[in-house]
Amino acid sequence: YAGKKANSVISERLHKLLVNDYKALPIVVQESASAYDATVTLFLEDVGTLFVVNQKGLLVGVVSRKDLLRAAIGNKALEEMPVSIIMSRMPNIITCLPGESLYSAAKKLIDFQIDSLPVVRESEQDPRQFELLGRITKTTIAKAFVELGEESEV
Ligand code: ADP
Repeated sequence: YAGKKANSVISERLHKLLVNDYKALPIVVQESASAYDATVTLFLEDVGTLFVVNQKGLLVGVVSRKDLLRAAIGNKALEEMPVSIIMSRMPNIITCLPGESLYSAAKKLIDFQIDSLPVVRESEQDPRQFELLGRITKTTIAKAFVELGEESEV
């Protein structure tokens, strides 16, 4: 019984963690950027995924390491290839909200087999478009996991 009770305490604690408190800064490229520029940004910013935005800064897509590798294998000139033709695009982007639980975000990463989620809010001009607030990645989840572990070490 004591074990069960301890588990439910941990579970309760876990479900209270919010995306907003754990999100990192979103790393973005413009949709007009080339696949070459995106690859350079990926290295310079030391991330695995870039969010692609339009001129208004609204989310239009996501480009991952493998998207860029695939383009590189294709043997075309990466400098001339807009990132917008190799990215995954809206409305097929899986997102999360600042008020959502970190648990729910982690579940999306698992269910959709992706590494990263943009944290968004609806644009005031057009509710079908999203402003970017941050990112949640598998690293975010690992950090929160370690934090929880340290809390219960006493
Ligand atoms: P990698 O491709 O480097 O392993 P991911 O597993 O995150 O990185 O990406 C797998 C595929 O899913 C890629 O084609 C990528 O564009 C797409 N993808 C990544 N994140 C998202 C997301 N949040 N919503 C929709 N598609 C995504």
